[in-house]
Amino acid sequence: MATFIVLLGPPGVGKGTQARILAEAKKLAHISSGDLFRENIKNKTELGNHAREFIDKGELVPDDVTIGMIRERLNRPDCKAGAILDGFPRTPVQAMALEKMLADFNGQISAVPYITAPEEVLVGRIGGRWTCRLHGHVYHQMFNPPMKAGVCDIDDSELYQREDDKVETVTMRIRVYLEQTIPLVEYYRKTGKLVEIDGTKPVELVSKDLCSAVSK
Ligand code: ADP
Ligand code: ADP
Repeated sequence: MATFIVLLGPPGVGKGTQARILAEAKKLAHISSGDLFRENIKNKTELGNHAREFIDKGELVPDDVTIGMIRERLNRPDCKAGAILDGFPRTPVQAMALEKMLADFNGQISAVPYITAPEEVLVGRIGGRWTCRLHGHVYHQMFNPPMKAGVCDIDDSELYQREDDKVETVTMRIRVYLEQTIPLVEYYRKTGKLVEIDGTKPVELVSKDLCSAVSK
């Protein structure tokens, strides 16, 4: 049976950073809804143009569009053994749709790590985030700087600051998270799969906690 790990947590807590590490360690695919949207925006697809209107305002992209995009991604061969889901689901409707999709794939959610940090930590992390143009690798100007300023260590591409990472939009994204995504915490707690992870620690320590949480 294919194994899926759902990473829950507010914007900027480190989901993307941890998802990459965990995907490599567990030999699972990494599915980031935010990265998929940004790829579509870069390629000027119809989906990208539509999603951009919501993303730039810090709102969620409508459920039907998001669910369709994830379904298509889950159908690719690299998800056969399972995947780390980073940024999806973000609403109860998406969580229900995921259950249905996994049933079709003979897959199941094995764990839901819920990474947390206080709002001031999130704002500090997002404010210093630099993202690579080519593959979305992330850096932080203080906590995880690239070897050469403005250049990705892994693929040499340019680093940029996301349009939706400016302060006004971040406040909106945190509000949207509290209103629309927080209900998923109780939903997954009831399934017995939720594991709380302290996201304020340095990257390596969060990874360690995460690895032992998903291995149980
Ligand atoms: P998310 O995917 O949850 O929005 P990211 O993984 O993109 O979060 O991390 C947000 C920012 O914080 C990035 O600049 C990243 O380098 C940095 N970061 C991630 N985890 C940590 C950590 N444990 N300690 C300090 N900075 C971190
Ligand atoms: P974060 O760093 O806030 O975790 P992401 O890269 O996951 O950011 O998402 C960036 C934006 O993409 C979100 O603010 C939202 O507009 C859109 N988005 C990402 N995932 C979803 C989703 N599952 N449902 C709706 N919108 C999403």
